[in-house]
Amino acid sequence: MIDTALDLDLDRLRGGAQPRNHDARTIAALTANPGCARRGVMDAAGVDKDALARELGFPSPFGQSQFAITRGNAFEAQVKADGCAELITLLRDRLGLAVPEVAYDDLEVVAGNEGRELRHARTRRLLAHALESDEGTLFDHPLLRLEIAGQPAYLEPDVIAFQLAGRLHVIEIKSFAVVDGQAEPEQVAAAARQAAVYVLALRRLVGELGHPAERVSHEVILVCPENFSNRPTATPVDVRPQLAVLERQLARLTRIDAIVGELPPDVSFAPGEALPGSVRAVEARYAPECMASCEMAFFCRDEARACGATGTLGRSVRDDLGGVDTIGTALALADGSLEPAEDLAETALQLRTAARLRREVLGGALDGAA
Ligand code: SF4
Repeated sequence: MIDTALDLDLDRLRGGAQPRNHDARTIAALTANPGCARRGVMDAAGVDKDALARELGFPSPFGQSQFAITRGNAFEAQVKADGCAELITLLRDRLGLAVPEVAYDDLEVVAGNEGRELRHARTRRLLAHALESDEGTLFDHPLLRLEIAGQPAYLEPDVIAFQLAGRLHVIEIKSFAVVDGQAEPEQVAAAARQAAVYVLALRRLVGELGHPAERVSHEVILVCPENFSNRPTATPVDVRPQLAVLERQLARLTRIDAIVGELPPDVSFAPGEALPGSVRAVEARYAPECMASCEMAFFCRDEARACGATGTLGRSVRDDLGGVDTIGTALALADGSLEPAEDLAETALQLRTAARLRREVLGGALDGAA
C-alpha cells in the first residue's frame, strides 16, 4: 500500500511509533468530544494517549479495577456457559423472542490461531452464510473491522451477534447491576455508545457482503446482573442516536488532513523536551466530561485552568458563552469593564443582565438577613 501524505504526517506525529489499535471503547470515546482537534488528531494517528499523558507527567487513572474485570469475566462466562443456554432462555422468557434452536459459533480462536486477519475472515464467512440462509445462529466474539481515518481498526470481540427473523442483533454483556429495572444512566450510555460501534461495524460488513444495512438491528440487547444477584436480565436499547453521532464523528476524522495540514511541520508526539509544546500546538476543547472519557484529561484540565478557559465550567457554559474563551473575559464583559466586539454584543448584554440579577438577589438576601 502506498503511503499518502496524511499517512506520513501521522507517522511523524507518532514519532515513528507503531499506531495503536482502536477497540470499541476507544472508538466510542471519539464521540464524547467530537469538537476536540487534539483528540481527533491523536486518535487518527493512533497515538498511545495513555503513554503520552504519563510522559507529560499527567497520568490518568483510567481502566477498570482488577475486581471489576474479574467480576465482569465471571458474569460473562456464566451467561455464555453451555452454548449460551442461560442467554437463550433469557431472550425467550424475558424478551419474548421466538428464538429457534440455534447453532453456537465461538469465533475467538481459529484452529488454534488467533491472527486477526484469519479471525476476521472467518467472521465474514460465517455471517455471509447466515445472511444467505437466514439461519438463526449465535456468533460469539465476532471480529469486526472499521476504517478509522483510513486505518483499519479491529474491534475487540466482547459481544455476541445473533440472527432473528432475518436481522442481526448485537448482545452486549455488562457486569453493572440493574436494580429495580434501573441502571446507572452513565453506564448505560457508555454501553450504548460501545454497542453502536459494533452495530456500525456489522452494518459495514453486511454492506460489503451485498446486503442492506437494515439487516443489522439498531436495537441492541444489554445483559446485566439483576438486583445485586448474579441472575442476568436483558434490556433492549435503541442506539440510533449513538449511531448518528458516531457516523458524524468518523466522517469528521476522515477530514483530519485539514487540521494536520495547519500544524507547524515540527510538531511531534515523540517523547522529549518539545513534547508539551507539540501537544499544546493542537487545539483542545476541554470540558469536565473529558475526565470520564479521555486519557489526556489531566493535562488538558491543567492547561484549561491555567488560562481560565470557560470550558472548565462545563460544556454547556462554554457553549452558552460561545466566542468568549476565558472566564476573565466573561467577568469583564459582565461588569462592563470590557467593551465587547460587535459579534459579542449580545452575549455581553446577557452577561450584564445576569450580573445585575445576581446582585439584586444577593442584595435581597443580605437585606433579609439584616
Ligand atoms: S481531554 Fe483534552 S484531548 Fe481529550 S477530549 Fe478533552 S480536550 Fe480533547
